[in-house]
Amino acid sequence: MQPSAPTYRWVCHKCEATNDAGKSLCAACGFPAVASAQQISPSAQDQESNEKFEGQLRLFLLFFPEIIPAAAFVLFSPYVAGSYFFAGYPSQGVLTLLLAAGGTTGFVLAAKKKQRYIAWVCVAAIVFGMFLISDSCPKSIF
Ligand SMILES: [Zn+2]
Repeated sequence: MQPSAPTYRWVCHKCEATNDAGKSLCAACGFPAVASAQQISPSAQDQESNEKFEGQLRLFLLFFPEIIPAAAFVLFSPYVAGSYFFAGYPSQGVLTLLLAAGGTTGFVLAAKKKQRYIAWVCVAAIVFGMFLISDSCPKSIF
């Protein structure tokens, strides 16, 4: 008789096949008769990453829809700043770059610390600041 083999007929944890006493591995699938919790539930880690993904999805939904103009602003901020500089409004150009860099840094730091509401404030500040800068420009360049 092999070690860790049951002395009774047993049902496989994995495929539920019935196995004879004295067999340490399932005849149908080769799964060990005496399996650790980790082996029986190998999906524990998958579940954890699923939960992590769901958390991120919820985090994303919290920022919806503000995150869209904020992300677009950050993405195009070099172009926007360049347009301000080109149109002769360097202070609006500098403010645009500062807002994009500061808002993004704040958002990333807050998101890392799971401070959702602070992260949301950063997103909202980017959107609000974007309008303030545009408003402070004597002439609309867009
Ligand atoms: Zn089996």
